[in-house]
Amino acid sequence: MQAITHVIIVTVDSNDTVIRDGMLLIDGTGFDYVGEMDAARIPRDADIMDCKGCYVAMPGLIDTHNHSSLIRGVDENLDLVDWLPVYDLEHRTCTPQDARQAYRLGYLECLLNGTTTVQDMHRHMDQAAIVAGEMGLRVFLAPYAADVPPYDFFETSDTNERLIKDWHGAFDGRVQVEAGIEDVFYSSDVMYRRALEMHEKYGVRIHTHGPEHPEEEDTAQTRFGMSITQLLAKRGMLGDFLSLGHCVPISERDMELIAQAGASICHCPISAAKLGCGTAPVKRMEEAGINVSLGSDGPIDNNSMNLFQEMKVASLMQKARYRDAKIFDARHMLRMATINGARSLGMEDSIGSLEAGKQADLIMVGLDHPSLRPVCWNETSTDTNLLWALVFAMQGNFVDTVIVAGKTLVRHGHLLTDDEDEILESAQAQGVDWMRRRNAAFNQLLAPIRD
Ligand SMILES: [Zn+2]
Repeated sequence: MQAITHVIIVTVDSNDTVIRDGMLLIDGTGFDYVGEMDAARIPRDADIMDCKGCYVAMPGLIDTHNHSSLIRGVDENLDLVDWLPVYDLEHRTCTPQDARQAYRLGYLECLLNGTTTVQDMHRHMDQAAIVAGEMGLRVFLAPYAADVPPYDFFETSDTNERLIKDWHGAFDGRVQVEAGIEDVFYSSDVMYRRALEMHEKYGVRIHTHGPEHPEEEDTAQTRFGMSITQLLAKRGMLGDFLSLGHCVPISERDMELIAQAGASICHCPISAAKLGCGTAPVKRMEEAGINVSLGSDGPIDNNSMNLFQEMKVASLMQKARYRDAKIFDARHMLRMATINGARSLGMEDSIGSLEAGKQADLIMVGLDHPSLRPVCWNETSTDTNLLWALVFAMQGNFVDTVIVAGKTLVRHGHLLTDDEDEILESAQAQGVDWMRRRNAAFNQLLAPIRD
């Protein structure tokens, strides 16, 4: 049994309970107790970590839309539709060795920034399963599958099914495989049918891209005579097993369709802004009843994987879009980055909040940083300015400790389960080599999808 004592706990439970002098008991992989400090409950042989009131514990963050990569900061200043063909070159040239080092570097960055669960979409994802197994975080793997020529150099439905058979549920369930699909322009109706078959046969979830840039919706209207969401509905994809990346341009009618189906939207505010897509109408999505979680979209366009940044930017962009300072407050953002992410992955009964009976996925932040002080409490309640500090003043590298399924993966800001220096060196060498091969493939650059 592990006992974390005298710790401030931001539970993100259904009441957003904050505990000023709290205690966490971890038995194996899950929480045995989350509540007020109660020394009498601590077993005699427990490993005790006394936080002395100087640390805050909160649920591990959940990045629900990510594309691991070693290539970043090179495809800049491009709108999404012009950016995608350049991005495709990374996939034309991606080897299992490239993918392995991308997962190692990416998952290291995620963990050091407090992300304990990643929904990742990339290539050669058996490598992701192995890396996540070694490193200790939780992953949902959605292969980048595409079959419409000339985009048939991505993963296939067959490699997706093989990945499910080999890795779904591995490492005590920390590795989950999904049916992954690029989007309606890259993937045919045959591929969508195969994804549904895999969902029905293996019980796996489906993850794909919704509309990202307004130009894509224009092209969908020309090509298919309907919006991207309506095409997904026609292909039988809308259900509570589906999470959709982005959905920046989206009509009221399409939001209704997604809400009625119980599908989730993975909102990536930084990537949407950076690729010139705009700002998603998250306030309207939530009013329609859609569960909205957060995603980084990965290093290739973000250029980082830091959900603390994502929380802050998402809040500011909604306040600005609707000219309403009252919306998207700190509690709201903490929910989007944790329990909403869990719901988006069908995991709300296991992760996303700190509660007895759930898996022990948590992060601890030391309060010895100027931007987190002073910590003040309302003496008549557990209201504290600390919640606002965690969303608007927090840096990812303030995360001191990361625990997933009861196992400590990061302590004092450093990874315990692998060699950080070796990961950086290997990523450096592999990344430079991949970039050279990717640059040599520019003669295969495709035209943007634009009708
Ligand atoms: Zn994406």
